Amino acid sequence: MWQQTLAQPLTFSGIGLHSGQPVKVTIYPAAANHGLRFVRADLPGQPEIQAHYSKVVDTLRATTLGEGRATLSTVEHLLAALLGAGVDNARIAVEGPEVPIMDGSAGPFAVLLAATGFKSLPWPRAYLRVHRPVELRQGDQWMRVVPGEPRITYTIDFSHPLIRRQRFTVPLVSEVFAREIASARTFGFLKEVQYLQTNGLALGGSLDNAVVLDEAGVLNPGGFRFPDECVRHKILDAVGDLALLGLHLYGRLEVSRGSHEFHLRFFEHLMAQEASWRVWVPTPVTQQQQSAWFQPALWEGAPA
Ligand SMILES: [Zn+2]
Repeated sequence: MWQQTLAQPLTFSGIGLHSGQPVKVTIYPAAANHGLRFVRADLPGQPEIQAHYSKVVDTLRATTLGEGRATLSTVEHLLAALLGAGVDNARIAVEGPEVPIMDGSAGPFAVLLAATGFKSLPWPRAYLRVHRPVELRQGDQWMRVVPGEPRITYTIDFSHPLIRRQRFTVPLVSEVFAREIASARTFGFLKEVQYLQTNGLALGGSLDNAVVLDEAGVLNPGGFRFPDECVRHKILDAVGDLALLGLHLYGRLEVSRGSHEFHLRFFEHLMAQEASWRVWVPTPVTQQQQSAWFQPALWEGAPA
């Protein structure tokens, strides 16, 4: 498996969830081993922020990355679309403090990426291959990864009559992500939305970019896109967070009642269990390529 980037630059714009203001994004192709990096194109000096869990500065309601004083919010759905499509390397220039929310899913990003096309790069993709189970528990939340082909199983449990217990499993394969996961929207409860907007947050939030539930049902006129749209969106969020790992996870990931914060805590725990995984390159590689993978700079988040 070779690394990929975009076939050509891709530009789009949309409304920021928290500011309610339009934001323009241009995704440029990048060379092998560049990784996924954001650029705050609206700030002096155009600071770069690497998509890596060590750069996460906030996970309350959205994942926010930061480098020095530059921050960028709501990166998770775009990252999910990029990882879901198999894009390893890209430079993502954002002209504002947050990535546009679009329809609350990764569907519009996935469609734009597919229409732009992909380019294979002459460098193999490396995986973090798990050969011993790693687990983390915290109250009623738990996450575990066990050896096996890459896939995610997610379980959620809400007392709301339209959600309750939902469980879904998908292999981490681009076609499956595009078909089953990308268009699942974020969801929230009317009370929370009202509270946020009273406090000047989620000003761009509406039924156009989230599934909103009250006690009786779904407020969106079209209802859910899938009967189990909520758990599918949680998988979307987990895929976006996996893009912050720095290497492709090769293993079976299971999550119960996760959150962005808990996903990231698990990744830190996993990285620390060095006896349970190894960096694995399935494609035959040259000596030079092989030694490059063992330079920690390429996968520990330090700028290469
Ligand atoms: Zn989400």
